[in-house]
Amino acid sequence: VKAQRGNAVCFFDPRMQVALSARARLESDLQDALREGQFLLHLQPQFTRDGAVVGVEALLRWQHPERGLVLPAEFIGVAEDSELIVPLGRWVLASACELLARWQASPRLRELSLSVNVSARQFRSPDFVEQLSQLLLRSGAPAHRLELELTESLVLEDVEDSIAKMHQLRTKGVRFAVDDFGTGYSSLAYLTRLPLHRLKIDRTFVHHLGESRSDDVVVQTILGMARNLDLEVVAEGVETEEQRSFLALHGCDVYQGYLLAHPMPVEALQARYGDAPQA
Ligand code: C2E
Ligand code: CA
Ligand code: CA
Ligand code: CA
Repeated sequence: VKAQRGNAVCFFDPRMQVALSARARLESDLQDALREGQFLLHLQPQFTRDGAVVGVEALLRWQHPERGLVLPAEFIGVAEDSELIVPLGRWVLASACELLARWQASPRLRELSLSVNVSARQFRSPDFVEQLSQLLLRSGAPAHRLELELTESLVLEDVEDSIAKMHQLRTKGVRFAVDDFGTGYSSLAYLTRLPLHRLKIDRTFVHHLGESRSDDVVVQTILGMARNLDLEVVAEGVETEEQRSFLALHGCDVYQGYLLAHPMPVEALQARYGDAPQA
């Protein structure tokens, strides 16, 4: 089917229309979900080499009335392509700040860092720094326990804006990690210009450790480089003992993955790692 209006020519593919309306429906469902409080955070602990918990990553979940618990893979892309990621991301940050503030009352939980994934559109919004500063102030959360995970591509799409915002937030105590490290650009020159605390090795590299010579080399290189730059390294997706020992042998600092703990509801994490008796 071809529709012509003036000089503009549009093609309508019926399959595309189905895909578009499914997307539009999901977008409006997500809007409702945010308004109705159907989002929640799961937390995945991060461990030192010796098995002590040092932090958690906040991972978004959608408690759908019919479909049950929905993972980000099913909706985060649609949210990121629309303006919705801005209020949704703000909800995540507000929830994270509330948690950090509450954990102040617990001698064990208040030692934990809380890492939050931030999307490009959210970070680029002009009032991002102001909004987060307000959230920190109003909640009373300790800013130095909050870590923002930014991907390489997010940082590099506008390096100057990234550096400026990161420095402003760093001044308040907020820390930064480069997420999915190794999957993006090969230009590493920017690393030294950023106020970074951590690199997170993407789980696609961790997955083939010990099986793939090239992934072994990539991971060793990242660990060596991080040591030189005085950055902490977190390995994501650690699933086997072999992966863990390879990483430990090459000086990895922090370990996250199913081998050690799955993401879990907030209450479960607090019960297991807080001051309540060990489960
Ligand atoms: P990510 O930042 O790379 O987060 C790690 C993902 O790996 C999480 O998937 C986590 O559940 C999963 N994972 C952890 N350990 C293992 C393991 O040992 N093996 C395997 N195979 N996977 C493991 P999840 O929770 O489904 O999140 C997927 C992605 O969605 C995240 O990838 C992140 O990019 C995005 N995301 C999650 N929460 C948020 C959020 O609040 N805001 C934004 N903007 N993005 C989010
Ligand atoms: Ca992440
Ligand atoms: Ca990510
Ligand atoms: Ca990743």
